[in-house]
Amino acid sequence: MDHIVGIDLGTTNSEICCIRDGRPEIIETEGEMMMPSCVGIDHDGNLIVGRSAKNQMVVNPGATILSIKRSMGKNVSVQLGEKQFSPEEISSFILGGLKKHAEEYLGEKITQAVITVPAYFDDRQRKATKNAGILAGLDVKRIINEPTAAALAYDAGKGENRNILVYDLGGGTFDVSIVVVENGVVEVKASHGDTQLGGDDFDKLLMDHVSEQFKEENGVDLLKDPHSRNRLWSIVEKAKRQLSDKPFVRIREEYISEDKHLDIEISRDDYQEMIRPLVRKTIDCVHKCLKEACFLPKAVDRVILVGGATRTPLVSEMLEEEMRLAPHYEINPDLIVAMGAAIQGEIIAGRETESVLVDITPYTFGTAAVSNYEGEIRENVFIPIIKRNSSLPISKGEVFYTMVDNQESVDVRIYQGEELLVENNIFIGNFLVKGLNGVPAGNEIILELGLDLNGILEVTAREKSTGLSKTVTMTTDNPEAAFDLERAHENISQFTELVQHLEEDLSPKETEKKMLISEAGKLHKRGEAILDDIDEADAGEIHNLIEQGKEAIIKGDTEKLSDSNESLSDLLFYLED
Ligand code: AMP
Repeated sequence: MDHIVGIDLGTTNSEICCIRDGRPEIIETEGEMMMPSCVGIDHDGNLIVGRSAKNQMVVNPGATILSIKRSMGKNVSVQLGEKQFSPEEISSFILGGLKKHAEEYLGEKITQAVITVPAYFDDRQRKATKNAGILAGLDVKRIINEPTAAALAYDAGKGENRNILVYDLGGGTFDVSIVVVENGVVEVKASHGDTQLGGDDFDKLLMDHVSEQFKEENGVDLLKDPHSRNRLWSIVEKAKRQLSDKPFVRIREEYISEDKHLDIEISRDDYQEMIRPLVRKTIDCVHKCLKEACFLPKAVDRVILVGGATRTPLVSEMLEEEMRLAPHYEINPDLIVAMGAAIQGEIIAGRETESVLVDITPYTFGTAAVSNYEGEIRENVFIPIIKRNSSLPISKGEVFYTMVDNQESVDVRIYQGEELLVENNIFIGNFLVKGLNGVPAGNEIILELGLDLNGILEVTAREKSTGLSKTVTMTTDNPEAAFDLERAHENISQFTELVQHLEEDLSPKETEKKMLISEAGKLHKRGEAILDDIDEADAGEIHNLIEQGKEAIIKGDTEKLSDSNESLSDLLFYLED
């Protein structure tokens, strides 16, 4: 069969995809899904492409070329070794490298391809891309827009009419497009973006932060020396990726500057505050794009994430808040464009394709915590940790805080579902972590959830200050775990029993706290129910007592909570009919 491969010719990385047995399959190059878009000449004068070229970048930058995509369509030449090359020629080496790997993998000659370009590429840039393909020995069947390819990978070519927003945040660039699918025709209505904004800028902010702290402690500016700067960049970039899955990351590097070692901890919260203004900038672009397409946010049916930097939790959070629609990220955001290009190749060849196969979790998994629910502090608020539609396997972590001083244990309770309160979700299991450090309330407990391809959930709770931890494996495919209303009710009663059973294990202090919080919840509800029917002075007093109670719950102040409950109970006794 003559394959028409799909190629995403990216600024930082490129990918190649073929269709086998009707399904898209990314072809690995040197054991990796992505090949760095990097071309070089080695010490023996040989042309090298991909990972090996990138690896020699640090030692031989003069003989290595990166980010050639930025020069496509320009009348410029770049020097590589002794010779000058056009951007088309350099790009043809990258395409040639991908083609070679695909031929080895498939055991046949590859002669036809669909190549993607950003929606904002003009005619010259598109022609230059096509010429690069021809130079690499490829019959370029079509040049398609990256957002169109992403939409195709999410099944857009088949049937339903849809308005799709494609949000693409890569290493160096950001773009957003509105793609309309109507009667099988996929069209980009509008595109907007910033060619100077991407994950690399997140790295810079984190580097500034880390180097500033290092300077304060050691009096050395790591950014001044190119060697330590490059080292710092690669460490910080790795830490940034880890922060997408973990609430804290420790950055350690020995001898980063002469005899000095780097050892700094970063929290996801602090990191996300650093990058928030940049993410805000991308959201402004989203609005401009919607305006250009004459679309209101609510007219968008689907939001699709593309590009490695969209794995940053703040990105999907802010986008969801703005669009009021949970973005789709189940197809690997690094590979989706190449997959869509390969699907387009199959459409051109007149062959049927199936949708992209991904193993995802159809449910959200999380825990219970004291938190805000519709303006009220509640004890059993569901805090999602692994969100539904995440591709498997996955591991995600969040930080939680103890509620009372000298708290000796925590009860880790795991639920599955989409409701805001845990009692409306399905209880999966629980365990106690005992022997916590005797410290004031606010002791940090890191909860990590890992879900494998078989639906086995591994839950680890770790006291951050001591490393004390407990791991428990839970199955999620048991009958109780299936999302089904009847069973959910059954589970709620099981849950009540379990909690009662658990109370026996809790310290008297914790049991008292639990009872007080539960009592406060009921009293606050009763108080709020009569606010409109009583005079202003009484309503003011009830309001104050409710606020005092909420504050006491947040601070873990059992004594104050007991006082406010008592006063509220007395007042309600006189005011209620
Ligand atoms: P791309 O150009 O699509 O290959 O995206 C590359 C950018 O994505 C780089 O800035 C990477 O550091 C960033 N990136 C890759 N994986 C992650 C991750 N797990 N979390 C945050 N950023 C990531």
